[in-house]
Amino acid sequence: MKAMVLKVISNVAENPEPLEMMDLPVPTPGDGELQIRVSACGVCHTELDEIEGRTPPPTLPVIPGHQVVGRVESLGAGAAGFDIGDRVGVPWIYSACGTCGFCLAGLENLCPDFRAAGRDVNGGYAEFMVVPASFAHSIPEIFTDSEAAPLLCAGAIGYRSLALSGLENGHNLGLTGFGASAHLVLKMVRHKFPDSKVYVFARAERERRFALELGAVWAGDTIERSPEKLHSIIDTTPVWKPVVEALVNLAPGGRLVINAIRKEETDKSTLTDLSYTDHLWMEKEIKSVANVARSDVSGFLELAAEIPVKPEVEEFKLEETNRALVELKKGQIRGAKVLRIEAD
Ligand SMILES: [Zn+2]
Ligand SMILES: [Zn+2]
Repeated sequence: MKAMVLKVISNVAENPEPLEMMDLPVPTPGDGELQIRVSACGVCHTELDEIEGRTPPPTLPVIPGHQVVGRVESLGAGAAGFDIGDRVGVPWIYSACGTCGFCLAGLENLCPDFRAAGRDVNGGYAEFMVVPASFAHSIPEIFTDSEAAPLLCAGAIGYRSLALSGLENGHNLGLTGFGASAHLVLKMVRHKFPDSKVYVFARAERERRFALELGAVWAGDTIERSPEKLHSIIDTTPVWKPVVEALVNLAPGGRLVINAIRKEETDKSTLTDLSYTDHLWMEKEIKSVANVARSDVSGFLELAAEIPVKPEVEEFKLEETNRALVELKKGQIRGAKVLRIEAD
């Protein structure tokens, strides 16, 4: 099968071809696993974090890709819940132990044995992959394969971020950074919390315009002050300055949720601007969101089908993966980037 493989960690700005197209054996499903013929796989910022070493794969080479849609090609012994030909999705959560305290408490995203698709095991930048059947998801019929792919990551993590933000109907929400996940959060909020006002902070003028088109009441630069204080803010930027600036806009008792797998080191010195009085006093909270649980994925897919949320997508061929990654790095994201994969 054809696959795009990560062999060495490198900086995409210096190495525009971080992945190598290879011809590899088709993986066979083990006990309890599904073999999937991949049809679409989203391209995510987290793959840049893997490639550039901010969340490096534990072993190389590895096939990235954690927003995978395809059809069940074959079943391993004891794999239950799906039949050959069923359409399934594979998100970031590839497996967790199922027996630790976190797993038993419904926090499998925090499991010490959490494994991520496309980082800790081979993912969907390939014609085939395998996955434990119990970690695969049915895809609602309303979505095409390409539409479903970005929902599996950006949607699921946005869903978890919104839940962790503690937002209630009528509360003001801020979104700092306006990429794929934030778009979906805005759409979710408009549906679930119709009386809440959403304020968007983004550096690019086109992102701010897009936010207003999608129903934000206000959009400004990341360093601006929102006209009203915010009960919750979700940060999806890769850097620190928007975090520091956002804390000023937070209402007393408000919570900032950081939805970023890693922060870049480039502007870390901004943290010395932190003033206890302006940024933290009055019971302001900061919380990160780590990974996703299966319930975030299934919960979001159900909600997305109900609203409905249809992401704008930009399709690439498997052999164009490197170009998609370079464009993502440059920040060209009005639509989500999706690889369309057709096995011979
Ligand atoms: Zn992702
Ligand atoms: Zn566990």
